[in-house]
Amino acid sequence: MIELRTIRLIRHYYPIGCGVTTVLEDFVGRTLSSKMKSLKLVYGLIRKHHIVSMAELVDMTKYKYPSCVRLVEELLEAQLICENGVGESSGGRKPFLYTIHSNYRYVIGVAIAQGYTRVVLLNLNLDVLHERVLKMDANCTAAMTLQFIVSEIEWILTERIASSELLGIGIAAAGSLDTKAGIIQSNLYLTDDWAHVRIAEQLQHRFNTMVKLNNGSVLAALGEYRKNYWKDTDSLAYTVSGFSLRCGMIANGQLLRNNGYMEDSFGHTVIDIHGPQCQCGAFGCLETYASIPAIRSEVVKRIKQGEASLVTDMADPIERVHMEEILHAVEQGDRLCRDVVEKAASYYGIGISNLVFMNHIDTVIIGGFMASHPFLYDTVVQTARQRLLHYPKCHVTFSKPQSTYNGAAIGAGCMIVDHFIL
Ligand SMILES: [Zn+2]
Repeated sequence: MIELRTIRLIRHYYPIGCGVTTVLEDFVGRTLSSKMKSLKLVYGLIRKHHIVSMAELVDMTKYKYPSCVRLVEELLEAQLICENGVGESSGGRKPFLYTIHSNYRYVIGVAIAQGYTRVVLLNLNLDVLHERVLKMDANCTAAMTLQFIVSEIEWILTERIASSELLGIGIAAAGSLDTKAGIIQSNLYLTDDWAHVRIAEQLQHRFNTMVKLNNGSVLAALGEYRKNYWKDTDSLAYTVSGFSLRCGMIANGQLLRNNGYMEDSFGHTVIDIHGPQCQCGAFGCLETYASIPAIRSEVVKRIKQGEASLVTDMADPIERVHMEEILHAVEQGDRLCRDVVEKAASYYGIGISNLVFMNHIDTVIIGGFMASHPFLYDTVVQTARQRLLHYPKCHVTFSKPQSTYNGAAIGAGCMIVDHFIL
């Protein structure tokens, strides 16, 4: 119990000031006192490393041992952190380990996408405590979807947590956004009334809490990074392949600034100036090779030119062929579909290697349909790796996302936690 005794001794010489214990909300502000900055730093390190000993905190902060003990004691008193067992001894008694009190406060993450709208309740460790989804169809107008979101949050605040325990609500949405004002400007893949939707203002007014908005792929990158990669790297790209090709980036351990209306710009990087014309007007954008519409239209074109394929019997008319059917045909050994999909995945791998060349990232998460099938995923990674061979020292880790369906919603909640702690 040497550490507890030390804490008591230290407290005798360094009494905690003012008799007011810190709360998480105290960490926000431009003019924090130096003590508050130190508390925030120690709390942030414990959050980042999940479980740490006092010696590790001393090593990471470079504070003197008594100062670190004092800060940890204050965080313990405020119940922001708690003890979490003991670690390995390096000779003396085993050291206490500390972790953040994950249920001290909660955040709500909302993700609005073409397929589903999702509402999740998260603790400070970004563990999903509750999740509800709305399948999006032609009836899901902005008003109706907002009603679903509001009633879900009301349920959470009645049944799961008190309003005072809620730090805020993060929203992830595809499309063109005004992130500062919290407005969804437009979304090509939702109903027409998803235009100029002042979603942050409405939820803020209804629940009297902080509400922030950002793009889905950007927030998926943030959530995936904080939950699974933060300790090991400070740079990461998270790519999402679907009807458009999107990307979120982490640089120096922080979300790279994004403007909210260029989420799909990864898809408009030009791979071949002599390629087909893109909806943006340019020729040979990555999207014209590696998006779902590009793959579908290539399969349809070649079938109409007379090539045989298993999907001919799966869709009538053939223009209605689904990506799932194409992937199913690939599994059955269909040569045409395999050829089209392989080319698309190769182009996607080139796009990813370009991302690495430009940004020197060391971790790439490949999300969306490119990760849905081993053949696609392996082709993407192989192509990217081959191009990166030019730099033998360049070691990039490629992975699939660990949170596949709710990654954007988790990231939306993470955006709120980051606001208070980073
Ligand atoms: Zn384009």
